[in-house]
Amino acid sequence: PHTKLPKVGTTIFSVMSQMAAEHNAINLSQGFPDFDGPSALLEAVGRYIAQGANQYAPMTGVPALREQIAQKVALLYGREVSVDHEITVTSGATEALFAAIAAVVRADDEVIIFDPAYDSYEPAIELNGAKAVRLQLQAPDFRVNWDEVSAHITDKTRLIILNSPHNPTGTTLDADDLERLAELVEGTDILLLGDEVYEHIVFDNAPHHSLLTHAQLYERSFVVSSFGKTYHTTGWKVGYCIAPPALSVELRKVHQYLTFSTSTPMQLALADIMRDEPQHVSELPAFYQHKRDLFCDLIQPSRFKFTPTSGTYFQCVDYSAISDLPDVEFCKWLIEKAGVAAIPVSVFCEAPPDIRLVRFCFAKSDETLRAAAERICAI
Ligand code: PMP
Ligand code: GLN
Repeated sequence: PHTKLPKVGTTIFSVMSQMAAEHNAINLSQGFPDFDGPSALLEAVGRYIAQGANQYAPMTGVPALREQIAQKVALLYGREVSVDHEITVTSGATEALFAAIAAVVRADDEVIIFDPAYDSYEPAIELNGAKAVRLQLQAPDFRVNWDEVSAHITDKTRLIILNSPHNPTGTTLDADDLERLAELVEGTDILLLGDEVYEHIVFDNAPHHSLLTHAQLYERSFVVSSFGKTYHTTGWKVGYCIAPPALSVELRKVHQYLTFSTSTPMQLALADIMRDEPQHVSELPAFYQHKRDLFCDLIQPSRFKFTPTSGTYFQCVDYSAISDLPDVEFCKWLIEKAGVAAIPVSVFCEAPPDIRLVRFCFAKSDETLRAAAERICAI
């Protein structure tokens, strides 16, 4: 009776990574690279620690890092954001998402999210006494059905959470999606939370359609990103949230009591790498597209069916030609019998999806991808 999250167990990412380790399987489940970020970045952290940059960072983030974020946003998305009033550095995107939700979502509000939905959204919504209204992205292309969104907007709708590029399906919102969204929210008090942690991992020369590119949408948005994805440093847990001044004020009220601030030497080092190697973000799509193409080519002869992902470092595959098992069972089988770990997509859904899908992470060395593909083709 006293539990606040009765439906919640241990996150699938911990469960699958642990199971992979126990069975010595190749771990393509939890999303993290098996290689390091730029060496200059790693060395800078050591240098800052040795120099004594080991005390609390400013609550809103190290100024040099916020400065670099503002420059990037101006360059890539054409938006001038205030270094002091619109950018807040957080302890991972996870903290930014939680803080944004806690800052604006009240008891009995409704928050629209899209299944399959990243697993941290709903618990954050429920802890604030609100309800997640889960709409389904339909296979095979997993696009948002805006008419359905419109039909589910009520006077309780407080927030819509949009994740593009999308984990786990790899789909991306386009300019038309942003226009439809703008029409829907026009004249309402609905706020938007853009989970854009894979903003720099978009393929085939497509642009990333950030909420930051759209003036009317940005006015009501929190836009979240993660240095873990961009610099191959998921273990550092540094992210940020960009929001107009009034929304940033509310976000910071939560952030200052949730974590107060984020690791100082990491922030200083990230500021340096953004300044010294600005090409890193423009090179990232090609870097990961090579891995996507390699992995997809290698598993083409397998019995899994798929279309290459448009963004993120995840590839979803349909296993219906291989097994009738539910996806959680199939992933256990995959680890034990095939020696490869994947993530079952149904755990991101309220209703079990009518398709059989698992997610592989291809943020791995080419060697790891080759070894994994060999096992995948043998299934
Ligand atoms: N949102 C999505 C869609 C993600 O995939 C992740 C990382 N797995 C996060 C948020 C959390 O990012 P961070 O590790 O920076 O907290
Ligand atoms: N975002 C990563 C994924 O989707 C995992 C993050 C986590 O383990 N919390 O796999």
